Amino acid sequence: MILIDGSFGEGGGQILRSSLALSLITGKPFQIENIRAGRKKPGLMRQHLTAVNAAVEIGDADVSGNAIGSQFLTFSPKAINAGTYDFKVGTAGSTTLVLQTILPALLIADKSSEITLEGGTHNPFAPPFSFLEKAFVPIINKMGPNITLDLQRPGFYPAGGGCFTVQIQPKAKLDRIDLIERGDVVKRSAKAYVAYLPEKIADRELRVIRNKLLWDMKETEIIKVRDSNGPGNIVTVEIASENITELFTGFGMKGVPAGKVPLEMVKEIREYLAAGVPVARHLADQLMIPMAMAGGGTFRTLPLTLHSTTNIEILKKFLDIQVDVNKLENNAYEVNIA
Ligand code: ATP
Repeated sequence: MILIDGSFGEGGGQILRSSLALSLITGKPFQIENIRAGRKKPGLMRQHLTAVNAAVEIGDADVSGNAIGSQFLTFSPKAINAGTYDFKVGTAGSTTLVLQTILPALLIADKSSEITLEGGTHNPFAPPFSFLEKAFVPIINKMGPNITLDLQRPGFYPAGGGCFTVQIQPKAKLDRIDLIERGDVVKRSAKAYVAYLPEKIADRELRVIRNKLLWDMKETEIIKVRDSNGPGNIVTVEIASENITELFTGFGMKGVPAGKVPLEMVKEIREYLAAGVPVARHLADQLMIPMAMAGGGTFRTLPLTLHSTTNIEILKKFLDIQVDVNKLENNAYEVNIA
């Protein structure tokens, strides 16, 4: 039984999700304690519990500790059961993080799957649906599987109620990819989404982006969302280069002036463009499991986040792999998984 200390490193839900994903693909059971011990509301929250229960179904797993607030879990999978599933987070909790947990197993299953996820689809501190669509899924599809996504309805915090489906055609062994050169930027666009909120919020956000990044009016677009269950606002910036597309997000929140929403994102984009690397921070931690499943891979990225370094340690607990991180010039790093 692999033992995991959930308070290690980043100490959040990522350790649990990565452990579940790796347990499903290796068939190795694990026990985790101190789940999200340092967080304001420690233990399993609705989103984490949905991820655990989804992994239990797909892995036909024996489990203990799968209850709200639990800081302890044992998980012992027996299979990878591809198929048709509907997982509801039940709150505005992130559906994309539930997918992050079960997707690796379904990528290498013996038949295809169709997963419907209901809850939040554009949550702060989680990959928004647009990130899956533009950045993450295209890379996974280059590794051999074929994933198609379909957003039925966006779900914002706090109303939730979003829904999307994922069709997965697996590939028994993922192909290795190496992401070294970004190539020239071929397209860039900023979109500000407003649901049941004044359009001037989106207008202000896009103005900040145009001013700070020196972009043209035609590179920015306001999208009025009319089908969500409640209000919401996000700004996404897509940077499509010859070899990769990255997506950056700013999340509008109650009490945060619209002009401030894109500021952190603008900093991230400038840093990404200056470093010349293909992979930005969030994609980096999310690529590690698929690359390890392919038996190895290399990518260049920005300085690793605590999410990434924690993920490396969890990977090593389940798989016999080596991960080397080397600093290059210019704020760039190269990660080699072998
Ligand atoms: P916690 O336990 O801290 O409450 P959590 O379970 O909600 O956290 P984290 O452990 O913080 O989630 O993991 C968040 C995941 O979402 C990471 O894989 C991270 O890369 C990803 N992520 C966060 N923000 C973005 C974003 N803007 N774009 C893409 N991915 C993101």
